[in-house]
Amino acid sequence: MNEYDSNRIYDLAKKINYQKTISLEEVDCYVLNTCHIREKATEKVYHEVGRVKKKFRNKKKPIIIITGCVAQAEGEIILQKEKYIDAVIGPQSYHRFNQTLLAIEKKAKRINFTNFDVVDKFDKLNAIKNSDSNVSSFLTIQEGCDKFCKFCVVPYTRGVEFSRSIGELKFECQNLVRNGSKEITLLGQNVNAFNHAGNKLPDLIKEISKIRNLERIRYTTSHPIDFTEDLIDIHGYNSKLMPLIHLPVQSGSNRILKSMNRKHTVEEYLDLIKKLKNANPLIKFSSDFIIGFPGETDSDFNDTLSLLKEVQFINSYSFIFSPRPGTPAACMPKVDNLVAKERLIMFQKKAEEIKMKYRKNLFNKKSLVLFENKVKNKDEFFGRDEFSNSVIVKTKENLSGKIKEVKIINGNNNTLFGAIKQNFDKEEFAA
Ligand code: SAM
Ligand code: SF4
Repeated sequence: MNEYDSNRIYDLAKKINYQKTISLEEVDCYVLNTCHIREKATEKVYHEVGRVKKKFRNKKKPIIIITGCVAQAEGEIILQKEKYIDAVIGPQSYHRFNQTLLAIEKKAKRINFTNFDVVDKFDKLNAIKNSDSNVSSFLTIQEGCDKFCKFCVVPYTRGVEFSRSIGELKFECQNLVRNGSKEITLLGQNVNAFNHAGNKLPDLIKEISKIRNLERIRYTTSHPIDFTEDLIDIHGYNSKLMPLIHLPVQSGSNRILKSMNRKHTVEEYLDLIKKLKNANPLIKFSSDFIIGFPGETDSDFNDTLSLLKEVQFINSYSFIFSPRPGTPAACMPKVDNLVAKERLIMFQKKAEEIKMKYRKNLFNKKSLVLFENKVKNKDEFFGRDEFSNSVIVKTKENLSGKIKEVKIINGNNNTLFGAIKQNFDKEEFAA
């Protein structure tokens, strides 16, 4: 979601003649878009601002703006602590970005925009064309969360659930496809809770599937309790919908799920997986796990390991519990740090084994790859298969935006290496 937000902030800034640069030395305005989901986010802000300060020690200072969830959660403290920062803008106030920038240019006082103004934000942003021209693009369809998992800051930093209208989303999608996008990932903190005037996620998927030249649709992040029957069913008949579902479970222990306020049991989660696989047997799953949540015992952790083995997630993202100020879990008694670390190592070892087993199984098989970009300084092209696995092939051809059948030859835990079908017999590929 932050990538989508960063692109939209840039679309706004372009309107007042700002341009992107990769050279820190030449910036007039430095925007740091932040995430607050785990610890050290605020420290990273001070560290990053310190780096800019050092570069500009004897020069005119650039305008420094902090955006995103750290700005939302700790804006006033940041402004007080680091005078070098000119403004903080929370995620629901991005539409005020240019107004802020122009005011600072005119030497107005330092600015704090951290209201929850989500309707106004999207109304204003809709007037600005989305200029993203990547083969694979992101589109925020929903923001906020009403679920209040005990560990999570999102309901406090992004506010209550809000969904954009199907009309405006289809318009933005058409725009992205016209710019060259072939794949769109629909984004939301609770993407499958999408609901605008009674229109749900399957309605949106059906609508954007009609866009010619849009080849692939993905959505993330889903909550298990928001998987409706029609959303499950659409996986059975919509060929543009990719067969990888990111379905965070957080823990394999019912006791811990309850204490996290996740609102579902392990059995219900497994039942959902079964239903999705019935709809489309090709579907694979990835998930998020929190290790060392307050009160997690060895037995709870073993239940999480069992779930990992049972589902065989092709990607597992695991994090040690990080107490977030203001959330209920921050006040709960912590699991010993060393114990949590040991469990994380054990978990990640197993998760990597499962991932590698899955990937080895792909060797010598064909997959459909949507190619995105040339690999820098090499006669190679990068793309992703239907399960979002990174795939690289050797070629001099420009494959950007094309879907090709690729034979996977080998690979590691990050990348698969393959050859395009017409070259199967000619090419040898060494990783
Ligand atoms: N809405 C999604 C869901 O309910 O599964 C997750 C959104 S959250 C932005 C992304 C992931 O960050 C979570 O799935 C969780 O694993 C992790 N996370 C959130 N808060 C955390 C915390 N306090 N400590 C460790 N990991 C956390
Ligand atoms: Fe956070 Fe997701 Fe829980 Fe909402 S459902 S509180 S975003 S973890």
